[in-house]
Amino acid sequence: METVAIVKCPDYKKTTVKDAISRIFDLIGFDFPSGVLLKPNMLSARNPDEAVTTHPVILEVLSELLPHPVFIGDSPPNTSKTIEYYWNQCQYEDVSKKTKAKLVKLEGKSSIFTLNVKGRKVNFPVSSFAFQHPVFNLPKFKTHNITILTCCMKNLYGLIPGYPKGLLHTEFPEPEYFNHFIVEFYQLLKETVVFNIVDAVEVMDKNGPSSGRKKYYGYLIAGKNGVCVDFVCATLAGLKIHEVPFLRIYENIYGIPKVKIIGDQPENIPGFQVPSSSAIFKMQENRFMSGIIRTMANQLNIIPVINHNICVKCMECVKVCPARAISNDLKIDRKKCINCLCCFEVCPNRAINVRKSFLARIILP
Ligand code: SF4
Ligand code: SF4
Repeated sequence: METVAIVKCPDYKKTTVKDAISRIFDLIGFDFPSGVLLKPNMLSARNPDEAVTTHPVILEVLSELLPHPVFIGDSPPNTSKTIEYYWNQCQYEDVSKKTKAKLVKLEGKSSIFTLNVKGRKVNFPVSSFAFQHPVFNLPKFKTHNITILTCCMKNLYGLIPGYPKGLLHTEFPEPEYFNHFIVEFYQLLKETVVFNIVDAVEVMDKNGPSSGRKKYYGYLIAGKNGVCVDFVCATLAGLKIHEVPFLRIYENIYGIPKVKIIGDQPENIPGFQVPSSSAIFKMQENRFMSGIIRTMANQLNIIPVINHNICVKCMECVKVCPARAISNDLKIDRKKCINCLCCFEVCPNRAINVRKSFLARIILP
């Protein structure tokens, strides 16, 4: 039986967050070693008010409560911006100045790992720093077009440094394989993760993880087992295990442990809406339809569309695209595009929308 704490945290004032995190530690108990790596979600160089990244006050409080040294690190997608720019925009630089927590670049030394994902072998790097330090996982509660939800398990993907993170999508262009990878990657890393706290004071629904809708919720969700915390988060979003692909896969392969919820008992997040892609995953539950999806993967999908009226030609989407599918005049080559939606995630101006492909619009609800 694994314990997951749900604790009210009505706002991001430091005293409020400190009370909430102290309560979590009282409820679950903790004995943390020194030298932990606080791993936020630093997907994009955005202001915390946009609910794309883990709020800096959570990191500030933990940097004061945990034994030093404390490190803060995440590897964002490959863009032209420096890591220092990310730290500044996400306000983690301020946290470091106030608390003496040390900001680290995960793009340095890596170790290469091999995983067998549904019969496909894949090699990839993982930041060596993450294996040398206990990881304190600090995801943001958001939706995601390929994994439906992104909380604890998906947040660890940021430990794969920079460009290889995008390149891995070319190994697994099918969402089902990518979700399998998330499951096996979690299994690889789970012993290094000492604790998880999900920032659900403000969450993101609809087409997350960077261009969805910000919603207020007012809770932190925490526990030692990331799968169980994700399961509770899915429940709070009104989702069943089979509606979140990586949870369904985890349940089928390893079984999700029984969960005891302690702390508060909130209502589910009111009106939480899943991304457009969820209709595809619903079809994949049907064996016959999943065969269709496999054979028509390029036609039945969620595709990125650039809104040239909003686009400021920053070229971040061109740089991040692992399939080299976006030309310098910002046209997307549909034959090359693998629908990884990395471009959608990094666009700083919400100038990329996701749209059901022609066939998906005909077939899907
Ligand atoms: S165009 Fe966007 S969705 Fe298509 S492969 Fe490139 S980054 Fe991925
Ligand atoms: S679509 Fe977005 S990321 Fe791409 S060039 Fe335009 S503003 Fe930049």
